[in-house]
Amino acid sequence: EAIFGEHRKNSKGFDLFQPIDQDAFNELRYHFSNTQWHATPLVNHDVGHKQSFDVVNPANHNDAIGSVVFADESDVLRAIDSARIWKEHGVRSRGVILNRAADLLEQNSGEIFAILCREAGKNAFDAVAEIREAVDFLRYYAAEAISQKASKPCGIFACVSPWNFPLAIFIGQVAAALASGNAVVAKPAETTTISAWFASKLLYQAGVPREVFQLVPGEGATVGNTLTASPKIDGVCFTGSTLTAQRINRNMAEHCAPDAPLIAETGGLNCMIVDSTALLEQAVKDVVRSAFQSAGQRCSALRMLYIQEDIYASFLSMLSGAINELKVADPWHLDTDIGPVISEQALNTISTYINDNADNIVVSFEGEVPNDGYFIPPTVIETTGIDALETEIFGPVLHVAKFKAKHIGQIVERVNASGYGLTFGIHSRIDSRVEKLVSSLNVGNIYVNRDQVGAIVGSQPFGGENLSGTGPKAGGPHYLSKFIKSESTMLNL
Ligand code: GLU
Repeated sequence: EAIFGEHRKNSKGFDLFQPIDQDAFNELRYHFSNTQWHATPLVNHDVGHKQSFDVVNPANHNDAIGSVVFADESDVLRAIDSARIWKEHGVRSRGVILNRAADLLEQNSGEIFAILCREAGKNAFDAVAEIREAVDFLRYYAAEAISQKASKPCGIFACVSPWNFPLAIFIGQVAAALASGNAVVAKPAETTTISAWFASKLLYQAGVPREVFQLVPGEGATVGNTLTASPKIDGVCFTGSTLTAQRINRNMAEHCAPDAPLIAETGGLNCMIVDSTALLEQAVKDVVRSAFQSAGQRCSALRMLYIQEDIYASFLSMLSGAINELKVADPWHLDTDIGPVISEQALNTISTYINDNADNIVVSFEGEVPNDGYFIPPTVIETTGIDALETEIFGPVLHVAKFKAKHIGQIVERVNASGYGLTFGIHSRIDSRVEKLVSSLNVGNIYVNRDQVGAIVGSQPFGGENLSGTGPKAGGPHYLSKFIKSESTMLNL
């Protein structure tokens, strides 16, 4: 599905554009099962001696994957002081360097795959899709910057990225800022520092100058806060929770120039409607993928499924069958469907939520769930609708409610009133119903008769409205407009 990548094999025979077979996977395991990585800040000054933290695989507490050293507040301020916009390269030569970085990601895809599995708990499908997405972002923004003749960068961009797409969203933000000529100081999520650090080294190898791009790993409350409260920052690109986006907004309002943009992609309470004309086998497959792919740790993931009442019982029993076919396991095995959640804290929050709602569970997972990592069994909870959901539960938990056809208009009203507007799924064969839903929903990405996750760079620009984000959509033609300044020059001849 990657549209910009070329077919290319890396030195270990791992081919990003073919489904991974068992032989290729065994090869990866042979090379990278015991590799350890040691990530540090990548800045233009000496960070001195700092304590390092061990990193453990969220799927397997016996798997030590390396260590990280975090930056502190003074490192952030020094990184900002030494940052320089990408002056000496025009937009075409920046494009050459970003395309070279894409080549390097492809060539190192085996090792990156291993990092994504062992640090972020990604299964094989997700890890491959994520590497392709990162490659696409680099090539796409490089091409867009050239065609839009992006020549006037904002200045220094802070890029603050999440752990759920530690490579793709990290690279997507950085690529957009760099393609437009900005300097970048990037803060990756603290739980997935190694993924971002490895990709950053490839950016340097591709030719991105050290003063143009720096990496300051660390905690949000310290490093992230210092970065986004600096008056010397000219723009912030952020993906994460709505609450953190609001905090960054306040920081910027207080400290930054009024024209400094905030580009934020945040959370969602995403719904899907399955009516009784839907092709049920297809709908079940799409519900399972939308709710449980990546262990539900996508901001696009389905949280609230509305099922028309006359098919409610049969649909739930098909869903239960499909869910109980899934394999919940360490993703360092090829056939794992659902890997771990990211941390002990996530495990506790989600497990508590499931326990608190135990009386309303309508589908539970009967299969095996490993207990030496942060695993949560996929769970379906019956409720009354989106109004009953207080917050986004970022894990493999799906809510279901039944609806009558005459109440579809009310569902739309409730969804619009929720304030969130990221993704929405529709399974229906009634064209007029689909058209009406599409025109009345205030939602960024609507998916009809398919799953509602996994937007493709360049063809499905991604991003929400209201509490779900500022826009412009990532991977779309308008995204770069926020990373550049527009100027008009009037000449009297
Ligand atoms: N772009 C991803 C998707 O379409 C979601 C990004 C996110 O979770 O932040 O599934």
